[in-house]
Amino acid sequence: MALIIQKYGGSSVGTLDRLRHVAKKIKQTRDQGHDVVVVVSAMYGETDRLIQLAHALTAEPDPREYDVLVSTGEQVAVSLLAMALITSQCPARSYTGHQAGILTDKNHTKARILDVETDVIQYDLSKGEVVVVAGFQGRNERGDITTLGRGGSDTTAVALAIALKADECQIYTDVDGVYTTDPHLIQDACLLQKISFEEMLELASLGAKVLQMRSVELASKYNMPIRVLSTFRDGPGTLVTHEDKTMRNRLISGIAFSREEAIIALSGVPKQIGIEGRILGDISNAHIEIDMIAQNATSKDTADFTFTVSRKDYPKTLKLIDNIAKELGASTNSSAKVAKLSMVGIGMRSHAGVASKMFKCLGDAGISIQMITTSEIKISVIIDEVFIEKGVQILHQAFDLDKVSSVSMSNIE
Ligand code: ADP
Ligand code: ASP
Ligand code: MG
Repeated sequence: MALIIQKYGGSSVGTLDRLRHVAKKIKQTRDQGHDVVVVVSAMYGETDRLIQLAHALTAEPDPREYDVLVSTGEQVAVSLLAMALITSQCPARSYTGHQAGILTDKNHTKARILDVETDVIQYDLSKGEVVVVAGFQGRNERGDITTLGRGGSDTTAVALAIALKADECQIYTDVDGVYTTDPHLIQDACLLQKISFEEMLELASLGAKVLQMRSVELASKYNMPIRVLSTFRDGPGTLVTHEDKTMRNRLISGIAFSREEAIIALSGVPKQIGIEGRILGDISNAHIEIDMIAQNATSKDTADFTFTVSRKDYPKTLKLIDNIAKELGASTNSSAKVAKLSMVGIGMRSHAGVASKMFKCLGDAGISIQMITTSEIKISVIIDEVFIEKGVQILHQAFDLDKVSSVSMSNIE
């Protein structure tokens, strides 16, 4: 008998029929003799609807009240799922994150889980009940409801798996596992049998929303493997786990993309010590996160300074930058219609030439690169948003990701 954590995402519980199907799967697992703790997201589209409601009322919703509002989607889903389980003769109890003992820091809308009090869950498990926990939420030290950021139910599941020392952490979703790129964009994308925590962390942070970044961070820190599976089709799914030799043989594991980007360039910035801090100071004081940054000298006395921010922060950032540009006598050039395209693979650590091949492929296709960043296992470029699909397609083919089981270092040539 094992303790299994199963997380079902919004599309898996989008309708009552789907909820019934999920209840059947949970009951099957319990009937096999396992203890089951289930984490559920809000029904498909519900969190978006709640966020729109808040923004229809006010441009800047109060963060505490925003969390009270958006956490309700999960409360609806857990109660309905528990009812469906009870109706099918499977004893179950639902809890909000607060009731289930998910303790977080005080950062409303993007809180981090600090601890999990497991007494309630363990008591119910000892009585043979399935415990259904609302994902994406917890409580801070004041007892206020907090939420964990979009996609946060994945993190709830991993945190529970760690706290309860579960035998398996299964994340059920609407695709068969982790693919070489988003299978909804590229039909030839291949299902990966295994992927390392490190690669999955990069892919998730660069736009592959199949797992929330923080869930992978947590899983990696506590060495808790995650299996990503389809709710609707049987199959082995993908194991996200620590690195092994077979993974190192793969040059590129995946391509991620994000359309949520905006680029801002300042030209003719006077060369002064500390000028970079001056430019970015007001932006970070406004709690806007900067992603990529590049600076290059354009003459003896001036430089160009370019950076990217999330598209939702673009209007606010532009206002701040326009003021700074005036003060410095610099000019601005910006666009909110850019996207980030990234290739990730631990094979890059030991093999050169990936970047040049990537840039050549994009160049040959007439796609101009506006910015580049690299790390040991990833290369990201900013391109015009209209080219994102074409760019992913070209790179996916050029690096043989449509035949991923046979991909090896020789594919660089
Ligand atoms: P859930 O509602 O189950 O949490 P999400 O929509 O958050 O599901 O995540 C699943 C989606 O992630 C898939 O439908 C797919 O479009 C997208 N996705 C992006 N990149 C990948 C990838 N590399 N592999 C699998 N799915 C991906
Ligand atoms: N319902 C939340 C969201 O849509 C959390 C989740 O789905 O994991 O972001
Ligand atoms: Mg998700």
